[in-house]
Amino acid sequence: MTSISTPAQFTELGLIPPLLARLTELKYLQPTPIQAQAIPSVLAGRDLIAGANTGSGKTATFALPLLQHIFLQLSADTASNGKSNKGNYVTGLILVPTRELAKQVAESIKSYAVHFNGAIKTVAVFGGVSVNTQMLALRGGADILVATPGRLLDLISSNAIKLDLVKTLVLDEADRMLSLGFTEELSALLALLPKKKQILLFSATFPEQVKALTQELL
Ligand code: AMP
Repeated sequence: MTSISTPAQFTELGLIPPLLARLTELKYLQPTPIQAQAIPSVLAGRDLIAGANTGSGKTATFALPLLQHIFLQLSADTASNGKSNKGNYVTGLILVPTRELAKQVAESIKSYAVHFNGAIKTVAVFGGVSVNTQMLALRGGADILVATPGRLLDLISSNAIKLDLVKTLVLDEADRMLSLGFTEELSALLALLPKKKQILLFSATFPEQVKALTQELL
């Protein structure tokens, strides 16, 4: 049963017109339960730990608020002092377990962002392919970086990217990331992130390993 207080329309969640227009084009008629419950609080800057399977609509749950925050921040920066040179920065970091998921999440984000007319740069990096193209793509930084943990660490050690300006960290499919053996890589990455950041963690299951990770994060 839907609770009376859960918004049933995307227009009630606090999303800005360029995103709402895109959702209409994509024929997303109504938010899924996780979108309705979580988008307003993620927009408000709160952390989130969510049980979510593939197919729940979890990608839009983190991607839409992330895009909105970044777009509004970029607009404010432009209004105040033009473009700031932040070097090889990342603002929104999304960690995923596999190359397939990295590509899929980046594609979804680019699709949601079409009405921002290229203002937001999204890059995906993952192992199993040459690092050179990814290093080139990261030149000048990225607003949103979707990454598998091992390849991200490689890129950091070759100075292709830095994590000290990350404002939002998303851990997508955290249980799969840990069961694939990324525990040490995750700890190494967490140590490189600024203390103050928004954390969004999505996991289909919550075994001890995931509980320990949430403890470490919060
Ligand atoms: P996800 O759980 O994020 O992998 O999303 C599963 C699929 O559902 C993707 O193909 C999305 O494009 C789609 N989707 C996500 N949210 C909605 C929605 N509110 N209405 C219709 N389709 C959606």
